[in-house]
Amino acid sequence: MTPQPDTTESVGRTYERFAEAGASDALGGNIHAGYWDDDPDVPVAEATDRLTDVVAARLAPGPDARLLDVGCGTGVPAVRIATTHRSRVTGIDASERQVAEASARARRSGVGDRISFRLADAGERLPFDDGHFDGAWAIESLLHLTDPGAALAEIHRVVRPDGRLVVADLCRRERSADDEAVWDGMLRMYEIATIATPEEHRERLAASGWRVSDLSEVGERVRPSYGHAAAAFRELADGLAPAARQEITAAARLMESFGRHPHAGYVLITAVRD
Ligand code: SAH
Repeated sequence: MTPQPDTTESVGRTYERFAEAGASDALGGNIHAGYWDDDPDVPVAEATDRLTDVVAARLAPGPDARLLDVGCGTGVPAVRIATTHRSRVTGIDASERQVAEASARARRSGVGDRISFRLADAGERLPFDDGHFDGAWAIESLLHLTDPGAALAEIHRVVRPDGRLVVADLCRRERSADDEAVWDGMLRMYEIATIATPEEHRERLAASGWRVSDLSEVGERVRPSYGHAAAAFRELADGLAPAARQEITAAARLMESFGRHPHAGYVLITAVRD
């Protein structure tokens, strides 16, 4: 009998497939949404870096601050923040391949001495001492966790008092029966555990000891991302074997429907460890 893979391994594999298909190259190496201020013509690869900059501005790390990147992906945000803010960054991810790619990127980056990546499950006890970090961020990773509250409590444990956590994540503006298929499709396709409402995001941070100092719903600033991602998927689909092509074309269709959904939102949250 083949043992069932655990969810974390499985989430890791989703991102590995995504990376294999080259999809993250289309996003400037980031595996997250873009953020558009006022100019809609900014290319998507720039807009994804802009989202990282918005997260970093909320963290406002002092020089040499020790930061934790929860669900670091291929390390593009970590390298950017270590470079622009002179921070020391530790990234964790549940995917071995992401960690290997992130580590290689750090070595090439010129700030490799300030960055390290390790394989760790954000749903488990984190391999760090209490108060080890000055701050933490999580870009589009908490949505994969079956118990995000427990993860937030662990991040709270490893961040020092007064340290900040910045969360950038999808949200569902309202819960209604409308287009349930789109939401279910997104959850299944990207192995997402939950897309929380802004209020649920706020509540679970508060329940795990964080004081939310700002929660902004910026769904309209990230909305163009879905169209760009769908276009990139379609472009990739052409060069793939039939099964992969079918999968990525379905992903493109779903992205488009999600991008049109009026309840598809996005939160940027700054929380402080009291
Ligand atoms: N933050 C990165 C990657 C976002 S994609 C960026 O902005 O580019 C989400 C990432 O979360 C993936 O790399 C995935 O492997 C990771 N992830 C999912 N579940 C996780 C878990 N339980 N623990 C740690 N990382 C996880």
